[in-house]
Amino acid sequence: MADNIHPVFDRMVPRSEREARNGHVGGVFWLTGLSGSGKSTIATAAERLLFDAGHHVVLLDGDNIRSGLCNNLGFSLEDRQENIRRIAEVAKLFAVSGAIVMCSFVSPTRKIRSMAGKIIGLQDFYEVFVNTPLEICEQRDVKGLYAKARRGEIKGFTGIDSPYEAPEDPFLDLRTADLTVEDAAAQLVNTINNQLVS
Ligand code: ADP
Repeated sequence: MADNIHPVFDRMVPRSEREARNGHVGGVFWLTGLSGSGKSTIATAAERLLFDAGHHVVLLDGDNIRSGLCNNLGFSLEDRQENIRRIAEVAKLFAVSGAIVMCSFVSPTRKIRSMAGKIIGLQDFYEVFVNTPLEICEQRDVKGLYAKARRGEIKGFTGIDSPYEAPEDPFLDLRTADLTVEDAAAQLVNTINNQLVS
């Protein structure tokens, strides 16, 4: 760390006091999956349920972040890594302030997700695989991106001409082909409640 930087973490209101007030501990549920797999849909449904239950919940979602904090980044592997690094640092700030954080990002490689886990701290990091086969994502094609990628109008699209590496041992595996949105969100909320809410 640079000589002229003097963090004041030890003088701030401690995490434990924030968590005691919230009635739950902080932690990061990291949703990974192909474009169109259902990350945003499931995360926004879960956010509503957690918020209505009175919890301090924060959702960091792909396109929101790319339109602001990371609007100078593209989709090269290097930029994807920097995108996830910034998001993980932000998620960590929220988690140590006692929030339940959901992050929904393609985060396509094991290396990128492992970096996120290391930045956040593995004790606070829960990987959620929004496990939807490419064929189904492509059929849904919510944003028309698969059609564009197939026509060659988008280069380096995850699942088409850029790799997606499925998690090997996710904390939660949501097979959306066999679940309704409501059931998938309920499974995520139950898992979060079990881990973070006393
Ligand atoms: P992502 O955030 O992963 O890119 P989105 O949430 O934007 O994906 O899009 C997923 C689409 O799939 C939505 O239109 C959603 O309604 C639909 N969908 C159908 N079944 C499910 C399911 N079981 N879980 C999540 N999404 C589903």
